[in-house]
Amino acid sequence: MNSTLAEIFEEFADLDREDQSQFLLELGDELPKFPSEQKTEENRVHGCQSQVWLITDVTGSGDEASFEILADSDSNIVRGLIAILQAAYNGKTAAEILKYDIQGVFRQLNLQQHISPQRRNGLKGMVDRITTLARKHAVSVTQTLSVTPVVAAPTVRKPFDVQAVRSQFPILNRPLASGSLPVYLDSGASAQKPRVVIEKEREVEERYFANAHRGTYQFGLRIDEEFEGSRSLIARFIGASDDSSVVFVPGTTIGLNMIAFGWGRKFLRSGDEILTTVMEHHANFVPWQQLSKQTGASLRLIPMTDDGRLDLSRLGEVLTKRTKIVAVTAMSNMLGTINPIRQIVQAAREVGACVVVDAAQSVPHLPTNVVEDDIDFLVFSGHKIYGPTGVGVLYGKPSRLEEMDPIHFGGHMISEVKIEESTWSAPPAKFEAGTMPIVQAIALGAAIRWVDEIGLEAIHRHEETLTSMLMDRLAPMPGMKIFGPALEHRGGIVSFRIDGIHPEDLAAILDQHGVFTRHGHHCTMPLHTALGVSATTRVSLAAYNNADDVEAFLSALHAAQSLSRSRKH
Ligand code: PMP
Repeated sequence: MNSTLAEIFEEFADLDREDQSQFLLELGDELPKFPSEQKTEENRVHGCQSQVWLITDVTGSGDEASFEILADSDSNIVRGLIAILQAAYNGKTAAEILKYDIQGVFRQLNLQQHISPQRRNGLKGMVDRITTLARKHAVSVTQTLSVTPVVAAPTVRKPFDVQAVRSQFPILNRPLASGSLPVYLDSGASAQKPRVVIEKEREVEERYFANAHRGTYQFGLRIDEEFEGSRSLIARFIGASDDSSVVFVPGTTIGLNMIAFGWGRKFLRSGDEILTTVMEHHANFVPWQQLSKQTGASLRLIPMTDDGRLDLSRLGEVLTKRTKIVAVTAMSNMLGTINPIRQIVQAAREVGACVVVDAAQSVPHLPTNVVEDDIDFLVFSGHKIYGPTGVGVLYGKPSRLEEMDPIHFGGHMISEVKIEESTWSAPPAKFEAGTMPIVQAIALGAAIRWVDEIGLEAIHRHEETLTSMLMDRLAPMPGMKIFGPALEHRGGIVSFRIDGIHPEDLAAILDQHGVFTRHGHHCTMPLHTALGVSATTRVSLAAYNNADDVEAFLSALHAAQSLSRSRKH
């Protein structure tokens, strides 16, 4: 007789660790065993320390069909965990399974605290398998991906108050040697961190640091909870339907290389085509260029309009049946152009191409929804969204992560290692070899919570107001050339050149006024070549910038112009 969830709650939740193990063993004893013909590789759940086989039995049809979980393991404790999953999931429809808060059940049972990380991975592997099967069923019923991402309860947002935002950034409130406060206009390179992020890093280091997914002692359990909690939060923030679609990576550059050489090299052949754009950052250009050399696939570019937008009216000229990958930035780090990702994905679907989005500049400034936009892969860096360096996110659709090969091998990412052969854990572990940037990943969660509490729409509106002010004041200046499109097509990035002052000299003069901007090619050499310039000056804005920053920049720019005129006379 199977136990119900209520019975399990009643008997289990208050037990201590040893008694919980005993109870799991007893539950496991009652579970029917699989016949050997069902213990196939196809039915095996990867990522478990012990062997686990899992199938589902579906009764009824359409979206009313209910699921029964059937599973077995060579470990009796795991069989006990299976009994809990059965009590939780059996009799539910696919839609109910996908919305079901299984983590809440584990929390109420105190289960996460009492089982080892390896076993927790195994449990996660089983849950992932169940949700994957439920999702497949839901997709086959509706023919569309109708997963509703778990949405956090709506928060009542306060009106955007830039002074309140700014006051949370210690670095912006600390005078320079000159006595003035820094005017930071280089957030496109790296954003500054609010106090909550700095404090989160300190909290982890001072109170419970340990390696993740290793120790079962108190620090180990706490760190796992924080690390996986951060993953969950990030998944919700980008609209992913599954936490395991979120892989922690060191940053955008490494993430894009992992896709190019873990997915691209596996599927591309000579004669295939990779479609990208001339406005890409080198991180989303050079890996595809090198992949094309290694595979014989050719690299093609979506044409650009004179004002620095992608010319989608000419997409048909370059997007063909041979296109296997479309790699495009959601927002240019030099022109500021916001690209129409949804439209590009829709076109790519018609030729069956996989879409890789470099979201390094967009995720900090614009709402992202990977499921609504049907994006295959999306990558961004923590340090541009008010988080730490050394950590970023690679999102992949579950099916894409399944088919992608890892390019880093070692601890944690394996399922089984034999002398001759190894097999891999399920994603995300498959792509998280070795020790992760644990503290940074946790602090990235704090940064994203901070952004989400303010609201990206409010941040975007604020940055748009400042960008408009900046462009309106720059445009009439004699000898001024602003690169990129009109305000409605761009985010808070403005790159320009002004006659008579080289960007490098300008940067030095601005610096003397405590105004920090970036100059050079901004890791977009092909774009600078296409625009016929070797370097530009870039102003990039963030939530903490205010009108005074723009004024300070403009007055330093005027001072630089006067200086350069006086030198010439
Ligand atoms: N893509 C874009 C659009 C960027 O702006 C950057 C950072 N300048 C990157 C990729 C690379 O990010 P990271 O250096 O964090 O890997």
